[in-house]
Amino acid sequence: MNNSIEICRSVAGIAFRTRRLRAQGLKVGFVPTMGALHEGHASLLKAAFEQSDVVVCSLYPNPTQFDNKEDLKKYPRTEEEDLELLQREKVALAYIPNTADIYHNLEVTPIDYGRLTNSLEGAHRPGHFDGMSTIVRRLLEIVTPDLAFFGEKDWQQLAIINHMNSTEGLGVSIISCPIIREPSGLAMSSRNRRLLEEEVLRALAISELVMTASAWSKTMSPSQIQAKGEELLVAAGLQVDYVSVVNAKSFEFTEEFNTAQSYRILIAAYCGDVRLIDNGAI
Ligand code: AMP
Repeated sequence: MNNSIEICRSVAGIAFRTRRLRAQGLKVGFVPTMGALHEGHASLLKAAFEQSDVVVCSLYPNPTQFDNKEDLKKYPRTEEEDLELLQREKVALAYIPNTADIYHNLEVTPIDYGRLTNSLEGAHRPGHFDGMSTIVRRLLEIVTPDLAFFGEKDWQQLAIINHMNSTEGLGVSIISCPIIREPSGLAMSSRNRRLLEEEVLRALAISELVMTASAWSKTMSPSQIQAKGEELLVAAGLQVDYVSVVNAKSFEFTEEFNTAQSYRILIAAYCGDVRLIDNGAI
């Protein structure tokens, strides 16, 4: 591996370097991840490379956002391959925190943004968004980027981060990036690595539902789409957490579509013991 990427493992080290870069007048683009990188992450890095002078990427499966400790234990850890992908994408700095350092004097701060935090992932994964927002806030304070890049794959997370950025005045430009999919349609995810071949085929029911829901909306109501969608996922052998059609911004549910509003279908389902999420515009 050549030495063009610098690896920082301490808060002080990364904070010093990114502040120095900004003092030199360079625009810092930041991509926070949990590691186990794939081409979905690479698309964020590419967007950051285009829109900034230097790209910083963090690799950290943040323990406080895992409501299920088994899920944290099984989360893939592939540091060496991740660093190769970061080199390929011309990332200048990789930040790989350790928990004692990054959580030093830091408590998880609960947040309540109404339906943004209480519905869907918030309802099914208690404490998940508290842990997520705590670490994102902390990472933004440490790295002090000009721009931070997040994927629409985690639509609700993105809405919460945008809300937190504006209400807490974090002063970062949040850039959202579209969902990257496998040729089959399956949304790329670090968790896909844990799917058996036969499970990958069944998981396709999720992306197929995302793709067809928009056509259904011409003749069906939100609750009809939800019911039919859930039926299809169950028929594919998936265990459904939710199939939800809501206002894309407020996450409010309505009985009828209003052409002046935008809507989104959001899905979470287990394929075997792997929990998958996906979403798309209606
Ligand atoms: P994660 O490592 O899963 O926490 O993801 C880190 C960032 O990459 C988040 O902003 C995700 O939304 C984004 N991301 C993950 N998968 C994809 C994908 N398939 N397409 C686009 N962005 C993604």
